[in-house]
Amino acid sequence: MSRFWSPIVHSLTPYVAGEQPVISGLVKLNTNESPYGPSPLALEAISQATADTLRLYPDPTARDLRAAIAESFGLDANEVFVGNGSDEVLAHTFQGLLNHDGPLLFPDITYSFYPTYCRLYGIAFQQIPVDGEMRVRLDDYRRPCGAIILPNPNAPTGIGLPLAEVESLLRDRPDQVVVIDEAYVDFGGESAVPLVRHYPNLLVIQTLSKSRGLAGLRVGFAVGQRPLIEALERVKDSFNSYPLDRLALAGALAAWKDREWFERHRELIVASRQRLAAALRELGFEVLPSSANFLFARHPGKVGAVLAGELRSRKILVRRFSAARIEDFLRISIGTDEECDRLLAALGEIL
Ligand code: PMP
Repeated sequence: MSRFWSPIVHSLTPYVAGEQPVISGLVKLNTNESPYGPSPLALEAISQATADTLRLYPDPTARDLRAAIAESFGLDANEVFVGNGSDEVLAHTFQGLLNHDGPLLFPDITYSFYPTYCRLYGIAFQQIPVDGEMRVRLDDYRRPCGAIILPNPNAPTGIGLPLAEVESLLRDRPDQVVVIDEAYVDFGGESAVPLVRHYPNLLVIQTLSKSRGLAGLRVGFAVGQRPLIEALERVKDSFNSYPLDRLALAGALAAWKDREWFERHRELIVASRQRLAAALRELGFEVLPSSANFLFARHPGKVGAVLAGELRSRKILVRRFSAARIEDFLRISIGTDEECDRLLAALGEIL
């Protein structure tokens, strides 16, 4: 620890990312990437970069990408904000919109970055425990607060919230910003994007990392009415006025427009998830109902850390957790059917 650091830096717990192996031959089911990668049209668009395009700064307004995203949602381009992954969009959101007098509410269990951002930006927060079935109960969020952020589906449980419940919360809290983090929504969740038109307090954040297979490119976005998006633009312009680099802009635009590829691959992942969930239950696992590209599961006979270690020695990576209440669980990203079969074969040996 350095005496030169501010007290905020001392209080931070650095994020430990899931293992990103360089060794091939590993079945990588630990960080919720797509096993299929992006649309070939995205690769083609990226490969068209030349010295002449890369010597120039990118479009500071990311106009074409914002327009394409807006068009598919029936919104205006200036109701879309883009950033380097939804993590950056979330960072700007915490800085610009959630820094209020009352505490920011979010679930306990949820995406681990939320408390980190709160500590980093000095935001008071209150975590609301999920219920005995690990579900988020929105009635518990009807209490005095500054703002609310909810992932839907939640992470790492994968459990989705019905849109009617989200809408009822939005209606009851007109003076609070409600952020819905939809990183995993394309795998069976109910998106709140159609509600943006009706609720000025709603901001929806999505990513191209999961259902568009572009985790390596770092592209995420927020949609909301003008006053919320304008706040994010102010924060961004004081931070880095170029939201995305040229390769990311080109690849993301092509991936976004390839609707057919997107639909086909998300359906494949949903089908593999259903198949894997059934097979894990056969092996004695308790598997939470998932609307995401991963399963959250535990086995009564094996502690999560031990099971993850035994899988690791068989070249299969899954995610385990050390936080209270979830230390028994594994989070297993949905791979190809072949990868899921390798996981099941290994579990068959271990259990
Ligand atoms: N929100 C949630 C709930 C997530 O799980 C993740 C992925 N770790 C993110 C946001 C960030 O994703 P990205 O920065 O790749 O868009």
